[in-house]
Amino acid sequence: MEEFRAEALEYYNNSSTQVKDLAIKFFNYLDSDDDSTIRVAEFAAFIRGNRFLSRMLINDQELFASMDRNGNGNLDFNEFITFFFMVFATCECDGCGKKLKGQQHLTCTTCFAQGSETFDLCSTCFSSRNYAHQHTEFQSFETLMFQSIAQVHQDSSDKGDKSQSTKERGVCHTV
Ligand SMILES: [Zn+2]
Ligand SMILES: [Zn+2]
Repeated sequence: MEEFRAEALEYYNNSSTQVKDLAIKFFNYLDSDDDSTIRVAEFAAFIRGNRFLSRMLINDQELFASMDRNGNGNLDFNEFITFFFMVFATCECDGCGKKLKGQQHLTCTTCFAQGSETFDLCSTCFSSRNYAHQHTEFQSFETLMFQSIAQVHQDSSDKGDKSQSTKERGVCHTV
């Protein structure tokens, strides 16, 4: 884990401002009370409520314990980066096989929603159609992640209110 943490911080320090912005945005999103830390319990609940992440990070107890290095029950930004690296930088393009390293990429909305293996494409493979896949709707991975975070926040804030089910499908119509 120590090695992985070092790799994650190095990745973050060397990454583009675009990736840094994304990490900061994501951190602020999860830090609902703006105290610059994320409570581990809150974070764990978020992961469990998110199909994509819960599939990806199965061994969560151990993961959270190892992420919270000083054991204070909160994740600071550095601790969070390790997680961020895990989610955003270990994806590979399913067209050319290159590591996506946190750069903007597209992912199949159907596979993402199903919580199964994601199908990811770098922008080059997407625009040159260098892939074969059974689904046709793609969206920015970043957008989908933020949508699924927003949904978890909503679910936890209006518990008991089942009047609305806001499960809208992707709005890209196939031509
Ligand atoms: Zn590619
Ligand atoms: Zn798919």
